[in-house]
Amino acid sequence: MQTKKLGLWLEKLSPDYPLMIAGPCSAETEEQVLKTARGLIDRRIQVFRAGVWKPRTRPGNFEGHGKKALPWLKKVKEETGMKIAVEIANAHHAELALQYDIDILWIGARTSVNPFAVQEIADAIKGSGKIILIKNPVNPDLSLWIGAVERFDKVGVTDLGVIHRGFSSFRPGLYRNEPNWQIALDFKSLFPNIPMILDPSHICGRRDCIYDMAQMGLDLQYQGFMIETHYNPDEAWSDAKQQITPGTLLQIIDKLCLRKQQFKDPEAIDKLEFYRSQIDRLDDELLNLLAERMKIAEEIGRIKKKRSVAVLQSKRWLQIMQRAVDKAKDKNLSEKFIQLIFKAIHQESIEKQEQIFREK
Ligand code: PEP
Ligand code: MN
Repeated sequence: MQTKKLGLWLEKLSPDYPLMIAGPCSAETEEQVLKTARGLIDRRIQVFRAGVWKPRTRPGNFEGHGKKALPWLKKVKEETGMKIAVEIANAHHAELALQYDIDILWIGARTSVNPFAVQEIADAIKGSGKIILIKNPVNPDLSLWIGAVERFDKVGVTDLGVIHRGFSSFRPGLYRNEPNWQIALDFKSLFPNIPMILDPSHICGRRDCIYDMAQMGLDLQYQGFMIETHYNPDEAWSDAKQQITPGTLLQIIDKLCLRKQQFKDPEAIDKLEFYRSQIDRLDDELLNLLAERMKIAEEIGRIKKKRSVAVLQSKRWLQIMQRAVDKAKDKNLSEKFIQLIFKAIHQESIEKQEQIFREK
């Protein structure tokens, strides 16, 4: 992928601040759109968002006004000077958005899972010069996200960005969508020139953690945010719980701390180097221990094979996990973290033992 020039649009649009895209989940009425937009007039908010085609999980909910709402957004652009962003989910939406000269088109999480839909949109906007933002797919699949970006790159779109909005999970958790930071960070390290925007609204699913999530985004060097904003959030027709007022958004922006990326004073640099060398040493030890543990797991695999005993011994596995969780408590290590690590280790041990079972 030719990624060198992909981020230039961001510098043009927001040279001094992180990019801020704000506006309601859905365009409900002309009055609601204009009232919300007027509350957002501030040099630190460069783009107004509003959904006009809403992908709803169940039928019967408000699915957006479609074409009817596009002139309302044009009015916002004329009145406030903000750029306008809408979600498009098929070629027909793309054609209408181009007709109404919408500046930024984003691909929603339910669309980026579908290569046919992504391709048809890419073909429809080809040559338009529009900025395209691609939300992560709902399922935690990095390749699918990359694939969607590649489809736009292939038709020659250079003004590209991605939006991290979290991933669906079958387990009820702290957030509406699991952040799975590692997937976004992996994307960032593979494509450092593609701007990455954080959508705290859809990750959190509730108002009270938008600020913390946005600060986390700044700390992780995200280059922008998309935050759902409504002049009367409680009465919103979609995503009411996660929307905040324009006033609250401005307070959040005031409070956000853009931390320096580089240390300048020599004392801090020395300290950092000292601690980093300790981290490297500990990482080496961890790797050696893991290698040693796998060797022992292989020995156990050989014994099991000889006696035709099944690889998975559920009772023993539960004991290992319980023991680790109990010990971790005194060491200030969270149960969630330890379970994650031990599950991964156990999975790898099982794979090693199965390999031994397959050997002739
Ligand atoms: C939205 O931005 O309102 C939306 C539908 O988002 P997502 O595609 O992330 O669910
Ligand atoms: Mn929404």
